[in-house]
Amino acid sequence: PVDQKPPDPSKKTLVVLGSGWGSVSLLKKIDTENYNVVVVSPRNFFLFTPLLPSCTTGTIEHRSIMEPLRNILRHKTASVTFYEAECTKVDPVNRVLTLRDNSEIKGDIAETSLPFDYLVIGVGAQNTTFGIPGVQENACFLKEIADAQKIRTRIMDCIETATFKDQTDEERKRLLHMVVVGGGPTGVEFAGELQDFFEEDLRKWVPEIADDFHVSLVEALPNVLPMFSKQLINYTEKTFKDEKINIHTKTMVKKVDEKTIFAEVTKPDGTKDMIEMPYGLLVWATGNAPRPVVRDLMSKIPDQAKARRGLEVNDYLVVNGTEGIWALGDCAATKYAPTAQVATQQGQYLARLFNTMAKTQALEEDIAHLEELGHATASPDDKKAIATEIEAKAKTLRRSKRLMPFQYTHQGSLAYIGSDKAIADLTFGDGNNLTSSGQMTYLFWRSAYVSMCFSTRNKMLVIMDWLKVKMFGRDVSRE
Ligand code: FAD
Ligand code: NAD
Repeated sequence: PVDQKPPDPSKKTLVVLGSGWGSVSLLKKIDTENYNVVVVSPRNFFLFTPLLPSCTTGTIEHRSIMEPLRNILRHKTASVTFYEAECTKVDPVNRVLTLRDNSEIKGDIAETSLPFDYLVIGVGAQNTTFGIPGVQENACFLKEIADAQKIRTRIMDCIETATFKDQTDEERKRLLHMVVVGGGPTGVEFAGELQDFFEEDLRKWVPEIADDFHVSLVEALPNVLPMFSKQLINYTEKTFKDEKINIHTKTMVKKVDEKTIFAEVTKPDGTKDMIEMPYGLLVWATGNAPRPVVRDLMSKIPDQAKARRGLEVNDYLVVNGTEGIWALGDCAATKYAPTAQVATQQGQYLARLFNTMAKTQALEEDIAHLEELGHATASPDDKKAIATEIEAKAKTLRRSKRLMPFQYTHQGSLAYIGSDKAIADLTFGDGNNLTSSGQMTYLFWRSAYVSMCFSTRNKMLVIMDWLKVKMFGRDVSRE
């Protein structure tokens, strides 16, 4: 850690909401000496989401992919204030935020306000349910650490209940039917991890479930993983078939109750049929919806009247209809997919923007000061020297004001699909594409994700988890 300068209230206050991919990438690169930086997030850590599906089965232990935010912030040259709280309201006119401490332990103050000069909103998104009845009450989701822990517990609970003395056949089959709704990368990766768990460990530890344990993936569209190339979609669907994961495409879930999923299937002749699917575990992964704080802010800004997916921003990530408020990552509606890759690049871009803004301000102040000096001095030589210096600074100022709009560089997509296989759609320098799949791609997937882990500690823990599972299998205790 460096010897940090304390926060300086005389500087402009920059509040950063969130501690996810977008906000942390901004915090890593921003020069905190230029602003009084305050971070607000209900989560006091950064979460490496690409390995979250592996936490649902214990392939990776959850703490291996968490990095304490305090650890990230203590390396900044000027100290950053952190509040573990949820921002519940943004007042863009009076430039003030409402913060609420939503953790279990509360002090005398559970709600307060925080004024800001500049605001960066990086609160991510929540899971969408499309208002489908019964989903919120009965399904598990997969976005946060707590979601992965809940799934891990439920898998084992279903198994232990299914093997309870005198359990009926019908009930055992239901409890051992694990259904994933949504054939995007989250659903596919989770289904692959769950089938691995069954094949590699559960089959051995609880052999009595071997005939009845099934994983099903339900997708409304004609195929899974619409963002990958046709070749990789076919490869994934074939791999799932070989792994005995049931894929139900053209199947749209319409209702869920405590034990059954009701879905509409489009048959090859175009007619529709309603089916019922009894389930023990339901994991819902049908994409993103804006968080309440974002929806509330959207409703306050006339320019956001047409926004649906999130805050609409301009090419510089400024929230349309506001001044000094930026949005990045999953909470912003842009032409890019809501991915960690996009959020990271947006964070780096905003850090550059804030560093440049500070430099510009300093140059403007210098120029104003030199101009005053120039007026005050009587000596023609001094006047000339000052004019030369002003011209040099003005040139630097013009250059630093020429900030380019945000531009995203897509490096490709990777996904794990189970049985030590992965798929990759990679993009190189001049837009060339390479698709690859299989076990070599899985090794690439592993090395790519380890190298992307936040810290050396995270990298070591993830590698140790993989080795541990290889040597001893996954832990089947129910927490
Ligand atoms: P997040 O990373 O979700 O961070 C949001 C932050 O805001 C969190 O710290 C949260 O606690 C905080 N917050 C929430 N509400 C509030 C509030 N009211 N006030 C203040 N703070 C708040 N993308 C890829 O590119 N590659 C992958 O392999 C990949 N795998 C994924 C696997 C899974 C299981 C999931 C769920 C997503 C995956 N993604 C992947 C997508 C990626 O995780 C998201 O696009 C990314 O997290 C978006 O970053 P963000 O900063 O916008 O939001
Ligand atoms: P998604 O939006 O990518 O996919 C959701 C899927 O659910 C869609 O295919 C949709 O047709 C389907 N669906 C919606 N309603 C349905 C219904 N009622 N019944 C059946 N199916 C229904 O969502 P995701 O997988 O959660 O991913 C969210 C974002 O995170 C995406 O941008 C994704 O690229 C990113 N992500 C990336 C990775 C990776 O790169 N490996 C992993 C996870 C997530």
